[in-house]
Amino acid sequence: MPTFVYMSACDGCGLCVDICPSDIMHLDRDIRRAYNIEPDYCWECYSCVKACPQHAIDMRGYADFSPLGHGLTVLREEDKGRVSWKVTYRNGQTKEFTFPIRSTRPNSIRPPDTFPQEGDMGDQLLAHEPGYLKVEKLPGLQKVE
Ligand code: SF4
Ligand code: SF4
Repeated sequence: MPTFVYMSACDGCGLCVDICPSDIMHLDRDIRRAYNIEPDYCWECYSCVKACPQHAIDMRGYADFSPLGHGLTVLREEDKGRVSWKVTYRNGQTKEFTFPIRSTRPNSIRPPDTFPQEGDMGDQLLAHEPGYLKVEKLPGLQKVE
């Protein structure tokens, strides 16, 4: 179910553009509003929906999923570690879902200068090992005297 933007609600902040893994959220150069340039290439990940502070992004529901039409709102509560979705159908019926936030917190990934640098090329450890494996040291062969 690809996404689309309500132009009247979008303020052109660009967060959806930055987060879209398919690079299909673009800002219109003239009106400075976001739009989905290629719904067929939408991953339907809804990262953009969750990121949008204006709740300006909705999704086009497939007919079997939302035969009556719908409105979709999402509330991301970082402090409570949850994301809540509310679907409002055209007949007034609503459905609500709440999920834990499982994604990496924004700006929490390590910056490029913490990855192996040129001088580390001979090192057999992969990036961020052994820390990412939650061990102090990787097992290795012991030299027998
Ligand atoms: Fe991009 Fe995912 Fe939004 Fe589709 S749902 S436009 S892939 S961020
Ligand atoms: Fe517009 Fe929302 Fe995208 Fe910001 S995140 S550009 S408000 S649609």
